[in-house]
Amino acid sequence: MRIVPPLATHGGRLLASWFPDLLWRVDSGGDKVAYLTFDDGPTASLTEPLLERLAQYDATATFFLIGGHAEAHPHLVRAIARAGHTVGNHTFTHPYPWQTPATTLQAQLDRTTKLLQDQTGHPVRYVRPPYGQINGAVRQWCELRAHRAVMWDVMPGDFLPNVDQPYIERFVRRHLRPGSIVVLHDNPIVDDATPAALDTLLRTLTADGWRFEAL
Ligand SMILES: [Zn+2]
Repeated sequence: MRIVPPLATHGGRLLASWFPDLLWRVDSGGDKVAYLTFDDGPTASLTEPLLERLAQYDATATFFLIGGHAEAHPHLVRAIARAGHTVGNHTFTHPYPWQTPATTLQAQLDRTTKLLQDQTGHPVRYVRPPYGQINGAVRQWCELRAHRAVMWDVMPGDFLPNVDQPYIERFVRRHLRPGSIVVLHDNPIVDDATPAALDTLLRTLTADGWRFEAL
């Protein structure tokens, strides 16, 4: 029995109607397009394997980077951007937004967007709050700084210790809809499960006519 927090995937659909400024799913007009997102990178161990798999299937994605990790691995940030992927803001130190003073949180968001823009030469326009903890401080900052907060409608919970590769594959295949935003992790906590599942999902879903695009 594997438990993915119910809010992770199903709660989002309810919350979407309460917070229309948040992006939960893209209107793809019914086209089989999906939006893969990778949180927490860049990492020395996983970013490159993920980039290789995406390139193999002509897929682009969105990487929500932690500023501190981006500062430590600037060449990986540039590699992500160079490959045509979108780089988004995932704060500087990955704090719990609901337990962080608004000014601290907003300063982290400012610092991270500035760093990522300096590193990539592209404007940063998307934010994902750590742990999906959206709040007034993040929403206010997004409005001030013309960013969009990106949530999701498919989260297989690849970061959970009891979630393995076959589960990730089954979960994504079962829940994927046109325009879906899928959360995966560029975080060593996922071990081999995420790159392996990504490989299978890209191969099988591409064969089924799906395309994968960056936000
Ligand atoms: Zn995260």
